[in-house]
Amino acid sequence: MFEALQRLKHQLTENPSRGRAYEILLFMTNSCLDRPDSQEKLTFEARNLLAGCGNATEKDSDPKDWVPKIAILRRTLKLAQPESDGPRLQLGYTPGGGRGVVSLYWLELEPQNDGEKTPEIAPSSTVAYRRSAKGAIKTSLAARLFLKGGEMRNLSFRGLSFLSSLLLGSAFWILLLAIMLFALSQRDGPLTMGGLITLGLTLAGFVFIWREIYTPWFRVVDDCVVKAPDWVSAFSETSCELEMFRHDNYRWTRLVRFSADCPVCGSTIELQPGKPDHQLPLVGRCVESPHAHVYSFDRMTLRGAYIGPPMPEERDQ
Ligand SMILES: [Zn+2]
Repeated sequence: MFEALQRLKHQLTENPSRGRAYEILLFMTNSCLDRPDSQEKLTFEARNLLAGCGNATEKDSDPKDWVPKIAILRRTLKLAQPESDGPRLQLGYTPGGGRGVVSLYWLELEPQNDGEKTPEIAPSSTVAYRRSAKGAIKTSLAARLFLKGGEMRNLSFRGLSFLSSLLLGSAFWILLLAIMLFALSQRDGPLTMGGLITLGLTLAGFVFIWREIYTPWFRVVDDCVVKAPDWVSAFSETSCELEMFRHDNYRWTRLVRFSADCPVCGSTIELQPGKPDHQLPLVGRCVESPHAHVYSFDRMTLRGAYIGPPMPEERDQ
């Protein structure tokens, strides 16, 4: 057992991957290795795993929902252990029930006998997304002025000031472009290379600022969820989205993150633009294999179906 644990730890640290399933396996392995003399089976409850691996904003979530599905954990463990003759580990699990009976997880040696092994299950073709809790995503200093606690009511004073400054800003930006183009067209003499470069740079700068600052706020009205521009979230945040929703007859805009555990490899799935390989504006892409493990995204059911390239047949072992 000790040898198998050490080999698993070596594999996990040599091939680091991003995702909850990976963090949990590493945590369980390290905890077991810290007690080499113990003969007792070391079991973990979901809340132990959350306390050991969750980040500060996740600590308040429900441990049951935070821990990935057992099929995903088992798959991650299988992928982490190369085919070899040495002893392999498997993940033991007893599901919880009502009346305070909690789910238990533990690492154990895989039986040599094929009949006793945990049956292999093909990865699920659907994925379940999570929406981050209110205020869990840190906003940048500039965005904090209007997205208080990560959200704003569109028709509040704060929301209206922001939306009107956005409209004024975009009108000003178009006017500025028109003035610059007009000024360029009024220059005397033949068209020079310098003039062309100035024109090209002006247009490129205009399009860049327009896409980065203005487009997401116009698109979120129709699309409900769009990728948040980089300047809205704090530097430490990775990928996050802007979501517009209706609550108590008011429209709200908030900064959220939709994520999921990849059923194929156990890494994290984030929403990313569907282009160039998909028609959908937003798809769920696995951070470790963004063009192979791809899922659709449904904001209302928080579910998605596999839309990536055909998967290779799983080899029988
Ligand atoms: Zn994946």
